[in-house]
Amino acid sequence: MAPEDKDDAPRRTVKCPQCGQAAIWAPENRWRPFCSERCRQIDLGAWASDQYRVAGSEPAPDGDPEGQA
Ligand SMILES: [Zn+2]
Repeated sequence: MAPEDKDDAPRRTVKCPQCGQAAIWAPENRWRPFCSERCRQIDLGAWASDQYRVAGSEPAPDGDPEGQA
């Protein structure tokens, strides 16, 4: 018996990680948490290109168990 959530909730926004502008946090904003497709693309691009790449540190191949009887 508490007041139910209002239909008229204020639109929630978050800060776009890319450009710092307000980004709408709602299902209608498919780019969230980014403000736009562009910002999202930039971020993903930065990742994929080199920012997220670990230089030559590939894990050992699977067929190399270390303590398996
Ligand atoms: Zn942005």
